[in-house]
Amino acid sequence: MMNKRLLSFFLMMPFFGFAQPILKEPTIDFGVSKNLADFRSAVINDIQYQLKFDIPALKTEEIKANELLSFNLLKNEFSLQLDFKAQQNQIQKIEVNGKPVAINYQKEHIIIPETSLIKGKNKIDIAFIAGNAALNRNDDYLYTLFVPDRARTCFPCFDQPDLKATYKLSLVIPKQWEAISNGSLLTSTVKEERTTVDFAASDKISTYLFSFTAGKFKTVNQDINKQSVQFLYRETDSAKINLSIDSIFVEHRNAIDFLSTWTKIPYPFQKIGFVAIPDFQFGGMEHPGAVQYQGSTLFLDATSTKSQYISRANLISHETAHMWFGDLVSIKWFNDVWTKEVFANFMADKVSEHLKGKEEFDHKFLIDHFPTAYGIDRTIGANPIRQPLDNLNEAGSLYGNIIYHKAPIMMLQLELLMGKDKFQTGMREYLKKFAFSNATWPDLINILNKYAPVDLLAWNKVWVDDNGRPKISDKLEINNGKITRLTISQKPEFGVDRIWPQSFKISLFYDDHIKELPVNFTGKMVDVKAAKGLAKPNFIIYNSGGEGYGVWPVDVSVFNQTNKISSPLMRASFYISAYENMLNQAFVKPTALLNYFISQLQQEKDELNLRLLTGYVANIFWSFNSIQSRNKLVQGLENQIWQAIEKQDLANNKKNLLKLYQTVFLTDEAYNKLYPIWKTQIAPDGIKFSEDDYTALALALKLRKNDENMLAEQLQRIKNPDRKKRFQFIMPALSADVKVRDGFFESLADHKNREKESNVLAALNYLHHPLQQATSQKYLKQSLDLLQEIQVTGDIFFPQSWLQATFGDYQSAEALKIVNEYIKTHPNYPSKLKAKILQATDMLKRTQKIMGE
Ligand SMILES: [Zn+2]
Repeated sequence: MMNKRLLSFFLMMPFFGFAQPILKEPTIDFGVSKNLADFRSAVINDIQYQLKFDIPALKTEEIKANELLSFNLLKNEFSLQLDFKAQQNQIQKIEVNGKPVAINYQKEHIIIPETSLIKGKNKIDIAFIAGNAALNRNDDYLYTLFVPDRARTCFPCFDQPDLKATYKLSLVIPKQWEAISNGSLLTSTVKEERTTVDFAASDKISTYLFSFTAGKFKTVNQDINKQSVQFLYRETDSAKINLSIDSIFVEHRNAIDFLSTWTKIPYPFQKIGFVAIPDFQFGGMEHPGAVQYQGSTLFLDATSTKSQYISRANLISHETAHMWFGDLVSIKWFNDVWTKEVFANFMADKVSEHLKGKEEFDHKFLIDHFPTAYGIDRTIGANPIRQPLDNLNEAGSLYGNIIYHKAPIMMLQLELLMGKDKFQTGMREYLKKFAFSNATWPDLINILNKYAPVDLLAWNKVWVDDNGRPKISDKLEINNGKITRLTISQKPEFGVDRIWPQSFKISLFYDDHIKELPVNFTGKMVDVKAAKGLAKPNFIIYNSGGEGYGVWPVDVSVFNQTNKISSPLMRASFYISAYENMLNQAFVKPTALLNYFISQLQQEKDELNLRLLTGYVANIFWSFNSIQSRNKLVQGLENQIWQAIEKQDLANNKKNLLKLYQTVFLTDEAYNKLYPIWKTQIAPDGIKFSEDDYTALALALKLRKNDENMLAEQLQRIKNPDRKKRFQFIMPALSADVKVRDGFFESLADHKNREKESNVLAALNYLHHPLQQATSQKYLKQSLDLLQEIQVTGDIFFPQSWLQATFGDYQSAEALKIVNEYIKTHPNYPSKLKAKILQATDMLKRTQKIMGE
């Protein structure tokens, strides 16, 4: 609005004199503080790193390294801090502009005195031992993962995203190893048992995007847009390799083609390349030219389900979208990390919309994002999309499902508000303006605001700067069989009064047709004028288009007539709403909802919906039933799932149902059905099982009955060495001997035993399985005690995943007491981490409340 903006402009006037930043010497603190980062970005530019790492074959031997750092200094008034989180004795020699300088190491920084620096071009030469913390060293491979601020654990640098630099890398590696990095491979020279690999200088990128992977890998090349693309992997299963490699390249090609067209910017970096890593701690990481992926997501075979294929395409599109959103235009500071993640997810969805069509896209979007976003946003620990950040050493705590799943919904609503074309125009302008540079969310909003029909700043406040979701209610007035008035209202589930401006659809169901009405919700209440005069419908489905965010009213009479809803999207929307209301103790109780969902297992033919339902059934069965009621329920449940398996025609549906059966079964009868499948390795008719499936089945059987030989036999069957190691790691979490399980948990107190995070999480899920909780509950307190240390030693998703894998399945009053006590006795606990605890234990709190009814 005009006058408001003028006012704020004039208000700023008296401060104009301060607009020129006065450089203050930043204090020396641990981590990378915002002050230090602001200072450095004001005085440094034009940065080049030349790095050489000498990597021995043995992972226990140290990596000798050399660095030549050159940069331009705009002002030389104060000493300069280089980030290096290491031990002082790792720094061997420093020369600044050709002269040796005494090593001054304080609080994770090398201090370079201003007396050795000059205004203009500077060169710093450092000989050092590389830190291992972010090198992920395995027996015959290693890979770097520097996001968000872990480059500084490996080598001295200016570790902040807005000091982009080029990296010229040399690696000296064992002769049999391969290597990949951001720059193209220049030369590879073998001398005796060692190979020296030289890469071209990288494009200009942030420190967190610099990366290399080296080790025993197989490599395959294919062309994408006439460019030869290298792919490294360690998979050994020939069925997976044969069925996956071509499609992995095709999916990259599709994503690159779509994004170059949508952004009007061709692929922005010197090369395309990627690597599949076993037990990778993320789904993927977007280092340009050297993207890393979790191997098990990329390599699929004939036994894989549609959902797995969708996840793979999504993951590839997500990382590819980062090349433009995040890598070309990067964040200035990690408080905006969500902007790169939201665009990656949002654009990945667009790739699939482009390939699959609108209806399937909307459906997938709903199922991918809404339940997961609600999982956090319904809790009192819910965080806003954008959060302040004072120091990069806390950046990890910003990551979570809100930025990955609520933010894309927010973006969809923004696009609906602006219209697709104007949104795209704004986005193209943003990418062009900030290419190879950095931008903040306000930078983008300022551009989009030019094309938006309403003031985005107010809109931004509730969607981006605040947490939570609205609870929606309706009022339908009928007279003589006709609607006289339909109003829809919103209010926040918790917190201060506010409204979420948004668009959504409702569908009125009649005997012979459906009337879909779009609604634009801009206030507390909306009068749906288009409904006036229509005949009274049989029922109404709210949010039938799947775009609307909140807890929508449900009509439980739909339970008996779901077959009248032919659209899979609308059914999914109804299932989600019914579940969210159950958690809010509205409309339906857990038992009734469980019965409804179980009956739908027989009817629901859509694979995505069936997956949603099997998740809900398992969740309600384990979380909302006492041991006694589970035992009472389970036989009927097992029978109904088995009938559904026989009734469903599609192989994937059968398989998803068998997986559900395997998740919930408790009776001997069920055990005797599943055991022979594992023993003979013959899956029931129409279902294909892979080695991974038999592994999971063995673990599920072991949880129910102590058969010492079974896991040993399964271990024998696993041929791939990486998967063998993973299985061996998980085994003690299922030991029949409590002492072994205690010992396993104790071992996790040492961070060295937590290095393979994806394996730790899998093991924790078994350790805390409801069937082992009686003896595992005692680990809860210590699991919370470890959390702060885990945040320091672990990767970005680990604190949250650690909590989820630990608390996700508990429902007891004792467990809740442990959590409440912990929070009470730690009043000064870091707030972002405390929020993660509240998020992860929300279900525990709810089950106590609902079961105590
Ligand atoms: Zn991402």
